[in-house]
Amino acid sequence: MGKKGWHGRAADALRVGPGFDLSAFDPATTPGYHGGRKAAERLMRRRGKDLSELQERLYANGRSGGTRSVLLVLQGMDTAGKGGIVRHVIGMVDPQGVQARSFGVPSEEERAHHYLWRIERALPAGGRIGVFDRSHYEDVLVVRVHDLVPPDVWGARYEEINAWEQRRVDEGVVIVKCALMVSPGVQLDRLDQRLHRPDKYWKYNPSDIDERAHWPHYMDAYQAVFDRTSTDVAPWHVIPANHKWFARLAVTELLTRAMEGMELEWPAADFDVEHERARLAALRRDDAGGAASGAAGAAPG
Ligand code: ADP
Repeated sequence: MGKKGWHGRAADALRVGPGFDLSAFDPATTPGYHGGRKAAERLMRRRGKDLSELQERLYANGRSGGTRSVLLVLQGMDTAGKGGIVRHVIGMVDPQGVQARSFGVPSEEERAHHYLWRIERALPAGGRIGVFDRSHYEDVLVVRVHDLVPPDVWGARYEEINAWEQRRVDEGVVIVKCALMVSPGVQLDRLDQRLHRPDKYWKYNPSDIDERAHWPHYMDAYQAVFDRTSTDVAPWHVIPANHKWFARLAVTELLTRAMEGMELEWPAADFDVEHERARLAALRRDDAGGAASGAAGAAPG
């Protein structure tokens, strides 16, 4: 058993390694972490503070002309909890520094372009954390499962995506890819909940049930994504998401670690600090003098 918390690096426990087999993956587990929900929530709040400071540092760098950014890519089946990650993990940092985008069925304009066109346009600016709720990976997931383009077309995309991500990394984007995995039974429970709570109706889409029928095809498509696009520069992390508290803790930890790895410093002042301090001190003296004479002069005559 041992101490509560992460045993070793979360990334090591969650990262797709050689021979990763999705069919043997258990979405109810908590790899690399020991402890229950309460401890996880405490740890997440603590790491959230670190994340928030790192984000401010990144933002400050961006304001000073820094071009580095972070991109969190979230994939997962319906009800896997992507929205909850945005709300609960990204919600711990200043929204001014976040660019969140979700990718649904492409619009007419988007369809007229290369599939990476809309993705590229949504990339975070320097100093920002970008969050993709679904992403370019839909173009090798839903597109593959539903034969939306011929196999040779989607088949060429894995390498194209790797090359595209490599270029983004070369430009200074830190890419953190997380696939949230729920078991079919848990998805059923969550869909059921959506149909029994008026505050959840808006999340329900009748097509979710139809998509469920394609579950095995989706798992094959995900397996191919992990086999072919988990690269050294942008590895995949597969996150068991039956326990929402674990998935949120895991993504918090992966993102925080990734940003710690950027070793960002606070930007240096682009003005003469001593000179500005002296000006401020002079103002203070003037004010104090003025207030003293002002008080004397204000006596009613
Ligand atoms: P969510 O289901 O995540 O709440 P939406 O209802 O807006 O979000 O739409 C997501 C749907 O869009 C999913 O069914 C997804 O598979 C689909 N989608 C996303 N990208 C593509 C794409 N490139 N081609 C076809 N369908 C896509």
